[in-house]
Order: sequence, then structure tokens, then C-alpha cells
Amino acid sequence: MQICIYIEQMGMVIAVAEKGNKMNTLHRSTRYKDLVRSLKIDCKKCSGLCCTALYFSKSEGFPNNKPAGKPCTNLMSDYSCAVHRNLMQYNLKGCMAFDCLGAGQKVTSDIYGGVSWKNRPEAASEIFQVFLAVWQLHQMVWYLAEASAVIPAEKLAEDIDALICEYRNMTTLAPAQLLQIDIEEYRTRVNRILKKAGELAAKFIAPGKNADKRSEYMGRNFKKANLNGQDFSMSLMIAANLEGCSLYGTNFLGADMRDTNIRNADLSESLFLTQAQVNSAQGNENTKLPKTLCRPSSWKCQ
Ligand code: SF4
Repeated sequence: MQICIYIEQMGMVIAVAEKGNKMNTLHRSTRYKDLVRSLKIDCKKCSGLCCTALYFSKSEGFPNNKPAGKPCTNLMSDYSCAVHRNLMQYNLKGCMAFDCLGAGQKVTSDIYGGVSWKNRPEAASEIFQVFLAVWQLHQMVWYLAEASAVIPAEKLAEDIDALICEYRNMTTLAPAQLLQIDIEEYRTRVNRILKKAGELAAKFIAPGKNADKRSEYMGRNFKKANLNGQDFSMSLMIAANLEGCSLYGTNFLGADMRDTNIRNADLSESLFLTQAQVNSAQGNENTKLPKTLCRPSSWKCQ
């Protein structure tokens, strides 16, 4: 489903903070390069899980309304997509934006040893549930890996390491045990750490400044604004205009960035930005992205 290829040099995000005229780095290289590499999509090692296991609807940019557990009509027998090259032409924004963060190959190749839901129809339902669980865990560890590289959040290192260690243990469990995990409890602990990491970074960037925190910025026009250190976490930013903005240390954790205009914007040093957010936003060749993320091919003509 994913149309981008991540660049190899993961974890080399460099961000800067403004202190007067002095710019300080905000990130260091992650200690979790291998982990981050494993969160790159590899559809060849998957069995089309995202195109089968998930519910999706036409209104969200998918080809049609489909219940969970039913393969998309465009999924071919070798698990490739019949319209992969034409997703943009067909305006399949949901397909273009989706990122399983490596959960597909983890489940198909590692957990089930290459056995697919088609080979073992009696286990299909379990495989789909395991995919959903692993996808959620991968989203959380992606953020944890970034948090581990945020210099002002250094004091959280031990907690982050413990959570990543837990993730590793969970994803080596047998499917039946994996499905017993209390994901919400794990999420609560992860969210607490990510919140602290964001606060420490914001303090580092603009000491003494109170965060202007709202939750809705739909359609708001920020064109060319300096939004360094702004907290956009969990915000609705659909069709907001961030064109030409400066976004050093701007926190995008969980923000809905569908059709957000990030043309000519500098996101190279933002916090908690994901490939799925970038895929769903509107950028161009002048948009600067963190080195961990790739430029969607659909931006070429925007
Ligand atoms: S069109 Fe169907 S098969 Fe192709 S990427 Fe989208 S969901 Fe998957």
C-alpha cells in the first residue's frame, strides 16, 4: 500500500533550537537504528495485510467500502496492488497515506514464518488481529525511538529503553499470547513518556513560554509564520496552511494532517512527524523533511 521508500540513514534527525541567535541541536542519532530500520515497510515480505485485515471506506480515500478481513478487489494473487502505479490518478489518498510501519512483514514473515492468511484460512482471523496489535505497537515504538534521540529528553532514556525492551519481548510471543497483551495499558505508559519528551523539548526551545495549545486548526492560515516549538500534538490540522513556515521542534504527535499545506515549509527539525502524516499532506520539492522520512512521489506535480 505504501508508495514511498525510506532513506537508509535512519535516526540522523538533526533539529535546532533558537536561543537568541544561537541554534542548538535538538536531536542526536538514535541508539535504535536497527529498530527504526525494521519499521520500514517491506511489502514483498507481507501478504497484503493492510489491504485485507483493515476496514476502509471510499470516503476516506480507499477504492470502496470494505469490511475488515475481506481483501481489496485490487489486491492480486501475489499480494501486490493492481493499481499501485495509479493511486494518485484514482485519488486513492487513503492508500497513498497508509504506513504499517513494518507490521505487515513482521506478522507475515517473522511471527507466522511466511504463512499467509490465504494459506491458512482457518487462522486468518487470528492473523488479522495480530496484525492490528503489532501495527499499534509499531506506531508506539516509532515515537519512542525518536524520543530516545531528543537531547532535552535525555533523562527519560531509562524509561524509554524499558518500554522498547517490552515491545521486543511482546513481539516475540506466540500469537495467542500476543493477543492477550493489554495494549491500552502499554499505550498509556508510552503516551506519558512522549508527553514529557515534548514538554522538555518545548522548554528547551522556548524557555518560559507557555504553550498555545488548542486542538483544532482546520483550515487555519499560518502562511510563513514562525511556529518553532508550537505544540500541534493530537490536533486537527486538516487543510491548515503551513506554507513557508518555520517548524523547528514543532510537535506533530498524532496530528491529523490530511491535506495540510506544507509546501515550502521546513519540517526538517520538527518533532514526532510520521511518514503517514507526510503522505497525507500537500508538499512540494521545497518542503524540507526530517532525514528519517521520504518525499512522496505524488508531490512531484504539486
Ligand atoms: S487499492 Fe486496494 S490493493 Fe491497492 S493499495 Fe489500496 S487497498 Fe491495497
